[in-house]
Amino acid sequence: MLPFQERVELTQLNTFGFYSIAERYIKIESVDLLQQLVDHQHHSTDPLLVLGGGSNLILDDEVPGIVAHMRLRGKQLLKVAQDEVLLKVSAGEAWHETVEYAVNQGFYGLENLALIPGTVGAAPIQNIGAYGVELQDRVVSVEVLDIHSNSLHHLTKDQCQFGYRDSLFKSLDPGRYIILSVTFALTRNPTPQLDYLALKEQCEMLAQGVTITPKHVFEAVCAIRQAKLPDPNHLGNVGSFFKNPYVDPSTYAQLMESYPNLVGFVEADKYKLAAGWLIEACGFKGYRSKSVGVYDKQALVLVNYGQGNRAQIEALAGQIYRSVLERFGVALEVEPRYYPALILSE
Ligand code: FAD
Ligand code: NAP
Repeated sequence: MLPFQERVELTQLNTFGFYSIAERYIKIESVDLLQQLVDHQHHSTDPLLVLGGGSNLILDDEVPGIVAHMRLRGKQLLKVAQDEVLLKVSAGEAWHETVEYAVNQGFYGLENLALIPGTVGAAPIQNIGAYGVELQDRVVSVEVLDIHSNSLHHLTKDQCQFGYRDSLFKSLDPGRYIILSVTFALTRNPTPQLDYLALKEQCEMLAQGVTITPKHVFEAVCAIRQAKLPDPNHLGNVGSFFKNPYVDPSTYAQLMESYPNLVGFVEADKYKLAAGWLIEACGFKGYRSKSVGVYDKQALVLVNYGQGNRAQIEALAGQIYRSVLERFGVALEVEPRYYPALILSE
């Protein structure tokens, strides 16, 4: 018998803080137990949600089927050389603590990704990114359990098909693979990545004239994020609610003509627009509707003031989506995952 718990409250297990009840819940602390669960799923029609830190999920009041809470723990150093450090980390380890551990050991490369909530196992799902670094820049391979065959595999970085807040796990073959561990390639050579202006300025302030180190980058990212983003322990949120949209050069040129202050960045043959700027320009910054709203320091973040729920967020997100579309002709895409999936009506 698998150690299921019935009707478990998930309110503390999702960073929006939405009241939510899982029909069945199981804590996964070993690969063996996970394989038993997958075996059970081969004889069941129950839906399965793999839950990490719940920081990229929009849960409904009732979550049908099984919630498997990933708690696999452990870190392993596979190689330590000056140029390359290979670090394998289990899926249930906390992301930020992993970054902090690496920086403290002098293993560099993850510092721009400090203070992102959630687990290591969820990081490849949307190829987490911040301040000019994405997970894919530091990953060698991802160890997975393929639920079709209930067998373990290592996927190379290329096989993961990472994209902008996207991967094989999210859009091409969603739900097929459960991530067990991630192996990172880091370095002991300090190479701060300071493309983002706010980060560069904060680092310069911290370094006070001496050479900027990865530790400065780590501290600067933490300081900026603490000042600008709501702490989910105090104000429920899932970080950026929409992805930054990409437009072609001619659309960008037209938009710039009408909105000279538009914030956009050229990347290869397209332009990435700052979704937060578009939302703010539509007047939503600080806007509140019922128990949910738009954060007053960053319009890309939707917040739960306490009694909010998924229906309220969905309504607010729809309002924002329509406003941005009407004004700029740009369709925003929701970044976090609605679970269960939304049923879209015409
Ligand atoms: P969950 O929310 O639990 O799950 C997310 C998805 O991953 C779900 O589909 C789930 O089923 C799946 N999943 C989880 N674990 C596994 C696994 N082991 N195997 C297979 N599937 C799995 N994101 C960024 O990219 N950059 C940021 O800078 C950033 N900043 C944030 C700041 C705040 C304040 C918040 C609240 C969120 C932020 N996020 C950011 C979003 C979020 O933290 C990340 O997407 C994070 O990786 C989600 O991890 P999680 O463990 O909480 O995943
Ligand atoms: P910001 O620094 O105010 O920048 C606004 C937007 O402009 C960002 O979305 C960023 O795109 C883009 N940008 C800024 N400088 C850039 C540069 N030099 N090159 C390319 N693009 C640039 O953003 P912020 O809200 O404070 O967030 C800071 C970082 O943390 C961003 O990277 C953001 O993605 C990340 N973050 C992510 C989440 C999430 O949930 N996904 C939540 C909070 C913060 P990018 O978003 O593509 O980087």
